Amino acid sequence: MYALAIHGGAGAMPRAQMPAARAAQARAALAAALAAGFAELERGAGSLDAVTRAVMALEDEPLFNAGRGAVYTLDGHHELDASIMEGTTLRAGAVCAVRHVRNPVALARAVMEHSPYVLLAAEGAEEFALERGFEPVPQSYFDTEARLEQLERLRRAGPGRLELSQLGTVGAVALDARGRLAAATSTGGITGKRFRRVGDSPLIGAGTYADDRAAAVSCTGHGECFIRAAAAHDVVARMRFGAASLAAAAHAVVHEELGRLGGEGGLIAIDAAGHVVLDFNGEGMYRASRVAGGEPRIGIYRGAGEPD
Ligand code: ASP
Repeated sequence: MYALAIHGGAGAMPRAQMPAARAAQARAALAAALAAGFAELERGAGSLDAVTRAVMALEDEPLFNAGRGAVYTLDGHHELDASIMEGTTLRAGAVCAVRHVRNPVALARAVMEHSPYVLLAAEGAEEFALERGFEPVPQSYFDTEARLEQLERLRRAGPGRLELSQLGTVGAVALDARGRLAAATSTGGITGKRFRRVGDSPLIGAGTYADDRAAAVSCTGHGECFIRAAAAHDVVARMRFGAASLAAAAHAVVHEELGRLGGEGGLIAIDAAGHVVLDFNGEGMYRASRVAGGEPRIGIYRGAGEPD
């Protein structure tokens, strides 16, 4: 058995406002990233390769808030965060507030595999990237019209309640044929964030976690709440110590714990038996999954025509 699930964030605009062409574009981008990651599993590669490949594809896709297409900070920059974790060994790597790294998830993996550390920040991460041979990209590489308009709207409106459309993080979780789990998450953070603000995505236990004894988890949503809830690890802990099923553990975290904190968002998760959960407490979450022998399932909202 092997399986892969991905998300493109809880940043879907209300269903009634979503232009059909944009929804179709998002579904196609999800399908392409899912196929790229799933091809790794099909050729016998590990779950770590599958999540890296899928998240890199989503980072390269300007529709999503990670890599190219990342949101702007209040002062008009892009600062990216990413993390990755291997469930067999509990090895993990992460980077935060990087400005010149094309694929932050690849750098997070390099931190895991080629350094004694888990998390490198800002200039320290950029220096490590250069040492590892990552070609730096200018900030303009991440620019998109849509994200700039979003920042300008926010500047005009002044700081207010966080809107999910300011989100759009990406992530992936996978189980490979050898029973190994992995998770990865990558983001530009939240539109109009203060510079050096760091959310849950690069924090192991908050936005990302993987443990072969339970599940691999990647989160998206209002990062401050996910940090306070230790959301990704909470799913794993409920399974390991409370004997909860993956679905029950994910439901409790997304709807009870995060709900209690007013934290909008969701998560994708997969357990060692290949059960996949894609749960969210807002109107939508860009998501896709495929299990060995099955067809790709792609969704944005709930209800008719959408997978569970
Ligand atoms: N969780 C991310 C953050 O707070 C945002 C998102 O999921 O889109 O940085």
